[in-house]
Amino acid sequence: MSENKIPFVDLGAQYATIRDEVHRAMDGVIADTAFILGREVEAFEREFAAYTGFRHVVGVGNGTDAIELALRAHGLKAGDRVMVPAHTFMATAEATTRAGGAVALSDVCERSFCMSGATFERAVTSDTRFVLPVPIYGNPAGLDEVVDAARRRGIVPIVDAAQAHGATVGGKKLGQIADTATFSFYPGKNLGAYGDAGAVATNDDEVARLLRMWRNHGRASKFDHEFEATNSRMDGLQGAVLRVKLRHLEEWTEGRRTVAATYRELLADHPAVRLPEERDGARHVYHLFVVRVEDRDGLRRTLGEAGIATGIHYPLPLHRLTAYRRLGHGKGSFPVSEAICEDILSLPMYAELTRDQITAVCGHLTESSRPVR
Ligand SMILES: *Cc1c(COP(=O)(O)O)cnc(C)c1O
Repeated sequence: MSENKIPFVDLGAQYATIRDEVHRAMDGVIADTAFILGREVEAFEREFAAYTGFRHVVGVGNGTDAIELALRAHGLKAGDRVMVPAHTFMATAEATTRAGGAVALSDVCERSFCMSGATFERAVTSDTRFVLPVPIYGNPAGLDEVVDAARRRGIVPIVDAAQAHGATVGGKKLGQIADTATFSFYPGKNLGAYGDAGAVATNDDEVARLLRMWRNHGRASKFDHEFEATNSRMDGLQGAVLRVKLRHLEEWTEGRRTVAATYRELLADHPAVRLPEERDGARHVYHLFVVRVEDRDGLRRTLGEAGIATGIHYPLPLHRLTAYRRLGHGKGSFPVSEAICEDILSLPMYAELTRDQITAVCGHLTESSRPVR
């Protein structure tokens, strides 16, 4: 890689800072031959519960399974209506279908790019049973409103927090806002394993008990299986890596927030670049730093030619994906989600980005972007 290339994420730079710790932890798992669940996973579950403010954490195979199993453990019945934002990664909806639920899309708020109390009220129906709010990009703004609005109607909120490890609202951790949340530890997430992993966090003792069976063939005891479930167990090596990385997560999150503040400072006077919202009291953890620009695709190409990698999260709202044509929502059904997808651009974001690198990104961005007419 040439010196002035700037990758979108740089997991190698992070690994360099924790190499010895990671290797010691992995060696321990191998020496114990504790490859599936086991002590490291149990310790991680306890430590991540404390970090997120939930009573229980149940480690599973990935973040998609976490959503599916959370819905099942909460008693979803075939055909139950589950509200999902149109602007999210498709796994939120996919896991709903796999659990047997009926995906019902909602538009998102123009400021937060997330569901709000208002977008929830617009999409809710008398047969909505669950809602899956997604603090997209790590922005938890408005999450408390959605959870409260759902509870008032007897709808179960389950937060898809795959991008929001460590986010808080009004100083409250996710476990003090919602009863259940799901996490992904895909390597590129704010807390990432060295393979696939995920978790469900819950304050409900019975839901936690059911989840421990759901992830392990419905096993109730050494000899008996209470129901047919699935295999979605976190593996021991991932538990060990996640324990090491959890100890650094606050420092890395502060690093991401500093990178975001530097982007804001350097882009403040450029009307051609619309900055992401950071609402008072909502701790944005910047899984992604997403701006809105004119001629997004042209700009992305120019940045790419300068060695700066960017992303689009996501190029299409869910109802425009081939997989969800069956829902029958035409163009114009969810105007905010559709407008966002046209002009969003995800800039490089990771704790190790230097001020010089951020300055280079902003320089190319402001030189090449056309002012909004
Ligand atoms: C990453 C992600 C998921 C899926 O997690 P996996 O671990 O990749 O299965 C679900 N929802 C959102 C919002 C995500 O970003």
